[in-house]
Amino acid sequence: MTLHRADLYRLRFDRYLRFGTPIDLPLERKNDPTTERYVWRTRQDAKVRWTHRANDGQIFAWSAPPTTGHPGEAANCRCEAIPYRPGETEFAYHTFTTGLASSYKRWEDSDFVWHFFTGGGHSVTLSEIGQLRDIAEVYAYETGTEGAFRRLSDQIADEARKSPSGSVHVHFDNTYDFGDVAFSHGRSRVYGDFDGTAVQRGDMLSIEGETEFHFRDVFTDPLDLRQFSAWLKANPLSFWRLVDLIRVAYAVSGVAPLPPGFYKKVDVEDVSSIFRFISELGGTRYKIVDDWTASFRADIFRNQNLSDYKIK
Ligand SMILES: [Zn+2]
Repeated sequence: MTLHRADLYRLRFDRYLRFGTPIDLPLERKNDPTTERYVWRTRQDAKVRWTHRANDGQIFAWSAPPTTGHPGEAANCRCEAIPYRPGETEFAYHTFTTGLASSYKRWEDSDFVWHFFTGGGHSVTLSEIGQLRDIAEVYAYETGTEGAFRRLSDQIADEARKSPSGSVHVHFDNTYDFGDVAFSHGRSRVYGDFDGTAVQRGDMLSIEGETEFHFRDVFTDPLDLRQFSAWLKANPLSFWRLVDLIRVAYAVSGVAPLPPGFYKKVDVEDVSSIFRFISELGGTRYKIVDDWTASFRADIFRNQNLSDYKIK
């Protein structure tokens, strides 16, 4: 037995007690029959936390909350639970179908620089540098205002509306700033393709398909690190690790003996000194690549005006 109305009221009442949020049950929802499941809907703005964006458009049961809890349960959450009635309620979500876990040690910025000196230009994968999950999730839920998954849902929906053949294809290609995952990433390219099919069911289109994502970046030169000097000052521990790596790299590469007085000349406050040592050492640019996939499922309104899924 599920009392959706009672659950919803309990949630609103709890928010009223804790945060003073007025109890607001929209009219159409008051007339809704009891539903055991709901579609999670975010406000689609920059303030939505990414764990809630990951729930956006998904169907959940009141009896089995996601790890985030139900909409409105977390402090300041403005997300909504839309009662789910099959064939009448819109939903749209992507599910990663590539394992994102990595058994490799996560690279720090100094590891990127180290590989530049000693890697001989060999490309690395995000999985090998322990960052596949971070990059794929940041891309999906945190790029732009609402994350790539939601933007792609809107694109797929619009494409499906104008494709009478039933097959739906969307190509995408853009660059994103992944500097929050690791300083060394800077701007990287993600491109790919969605391929799926759309079937008309009454006022709705049911869409299913698969998307391939391709990540491409090139680590060109430590001196190109954005705001490198600001990073050095903000990360004194990484800085000294880097200095140590340069010392070892000099010894390994044999390009030249370590300049006398190396440690005395290197100074967090004197960024030009470390620039000079890095320049003299040389290094080889290398590619950072990886690929992953996600499945897509959606029921969207054929009428774009009524739909929550369209390019804004
Ligand atoms: Zn929320």
